[in-house]
Amino acid sequence: MESLIKSLDSLYCDSLTGYSRRKTIPVRVGDVLIGGDNPIVVQSMTTVDTMDTMGSVEQSIRMIESGCELVRITAPSIKEAENLRHIKAELRKRGYKTPLVADIHFTPNAAELAARIVEKVRINPGNYADKKKFEVIDYTDASYADELDRIRERFLPLVKICKENGTAMRIGTNHGSLSDRIMSRYGDTPLGMVESALEFLRICEDENYFDIVISMKSSNTQVMVQAYRLLVQKLNEGGFKPYPLHLGVTEAGEAEDGRIKSAVGIGTLLEDGLGDTVRVSLTEDPEFEAPVAKALIDRYSERKSHEPIPEITHYPITPFEYNKRQVAEIYNFGGHNVPRVITDISKIERITDREMKVVGHFYLPELDKWKMNDQGCDFVYSGSNPIPFMLPNGMKEIQDFAVWNLAPDQVNKFPLFKLEEYKGAKRFHSELNFLEISALEIDAAIPAIAGKKDTVLILKTANTHSMPALRRAFVSLLEAKSDVPVVVKVSYPDQSADMTMLYAATDVGGLLIDGLGDGILISLEKEAEHTRAEVLEQIKLHNTVSFGVLQAARTRMSKTEYISCPSCGRTLFDLQETTAMIRKRTDHLKGVKIGIMGCIVNGPGEMADADYGYVGSGKGKITLYKGKEVMKKSVPSEKAVDELINIIKEDGMWNEPETI
Ligand code: SF4
Repeated sequence: MESLIKSLDSLYCDSLTGYSRRKTIPVRVGDVLIGGDNPIVVQSMTTVDTMDTMGSVEQSIRMIESGCELVRITAPSIKEAENLRHIKAELRKRGYKTPLVADIHFTPNAAELAARIVEKVRINPGNYADKKKFEVIDYTDASYADELDRIRERFLPLVKICKENGTAMRIGTNHGSLSDRIMSRYGDTPLGMVESALEFLRICEDENYFDIVISMKSSNTQVMVQAYRLLVQKLNEGGFKPYPLHLGVTEAGEAEDGRIKSAVGIGTLLEDGLGDTVRVSLTEDPEFEAPVAKALIDRYSERKSHEPIPEITHYPITPFEYNKRQVAEIYNFGGHNVPRVITDISKIERITDREMKVVGHFYLPELDKWKMNDQGCDFVYSGSNPIPFMLPNGMKEIQDFAVWNLAPDQVNKFPLFKLEEYKGAKRFHSELNFLEISALEIDAAIPAIAGKKDTVLILKTANTHSMPALRRAFVSLLEAKSDVPVVVKVSYPDQSADMTMLYAATDVGGLLIDGLGDGILISLEKEAEHTRAEVLEQIKLHNTVSFGVLQAARTRMSKTEYISCPSCGRTLFDLQETTAMIRKRTDHLKGVKIGIMGCIVNGPGEMADADYGYVGSGKGKITLYKGKEVMKKSVPSEKAVDELINIIKEDGMWNEPETI
């Protein structure tokens, strides 16, 4: 991968420090323009059967009313493609001009028809001209070229129809559904994803057809981010036009997990100015998707006016593959430890043992015992409100230096210094000290911590271009060859829980994706006028969001991961209900990945690296997988969850849930 990294001039974005949206060509989709100087477009996809005309229309309207500017509808065969005509006519009759996008997998004939009806067609280059057989084929250059000729022949009619009808196209690569040809040559990699799109893009450009948007989706946020970055670099180097990018994380899941995972992937790219249209895919009704996409996008409307960040002249980070920054092991930070969660409880005076449940540690008075769940934080920051009881479960307390300095117990508590305090301090903890600095203080902090093997940095910034400002400080540490572990601290003012999830996932997740950060601390910025219960609720949110961000960036697994598709007109069961049912039985299986897919056509491919899969294969019938291997076919749906659990048990990955 090293050979893919070129000078900063040809990096994947305009600037690593100043917010600048990548210049793309505008692509017209009906009345909507994607790319160029146009605002980032919000889109989403229907979930009702495309043959249900009125159902599709009603759902589209709900989506439009919630902020969706482009409505995608699946067209699995000719008959659904034909029905797009009726859906479109009804929407127009009711005064809705929102452009429609036909979603195509495997069926060129449906694409060719749909391209004459709707404003945009999405094709998946992994399955437009190929059926997936999971075969590894040894291609010679000549046989590979023959394959490309075959694709050209299959794809060319669609390109011509789009060109004639002014229909736009998305070449939408999915990590989980790369063709056997691409997998054989490039493997399951970001480069394979990019090449998959470029094969089709070359055919379009040869025909002088440029109304194209490209996506590189994956449910793995690291792969997704790397693939988009690599795509931009390959477009630049290959002399292609700067096509707009459609951003999305596939199978992100539901609720908090789905939002956090989407924000880690999409937000990381938006920070670097990539992305012209966004679809957040949640296993929820589609009208819940647009507000999340909009909340992510809206952060950038004023971003240009951020405080300047010192430029980067040499970039020591590989943006196309995951490399954890090498750091020393200090206490239980850094080294080979998972990133740590520090939860800020400093705004609560004299917290009680029973209130500690908000940070995942439960006191059971009848047994006089403590228990913790999978999201029990590692450290609490109590500031100047020391905890008045002994802490359980190996959890440790961090106090402000002034408090720690006078505390009777200086062994089991750890001090947090400001830079000036640290420089002038006569007393340190023998094993672990925290130095909190802003990104702007990094150059002053580096000499102060040089050679210290008892200090962890807590890094924060007040810059509104937060992630790049923090990343810039990491670049200084890398340049200085400092191996100090770093906890990333973010603070937010009063805002909704959703905003906090999305912002923290972007600001911290964007660093974790590049291997930066050994811990997370989400700080409470509020004072007064909040009840104790409200503050405790915030602390609970920050604690769970911290674990969620670490998991979504794939750096610390603390819960079961559900890779569930958002559902569409192909879906064979109620995804939301089924996901909830599976979650209820399996959400104690820490680190296990379960794919829940609505159809057998795309599901097995798209559940990517799930350990187990639950895939709709017919009305009331489920096929169960272990990895990519089919374990049981056509299981009646009422027995399928039990059978799934049996497969997990037989595989030795089951444990019984604990009750707290
Ligand atoms: S996997 Fe889910 S979203 Fe994808 S095509 Fe099948 S049902 Fe639709």
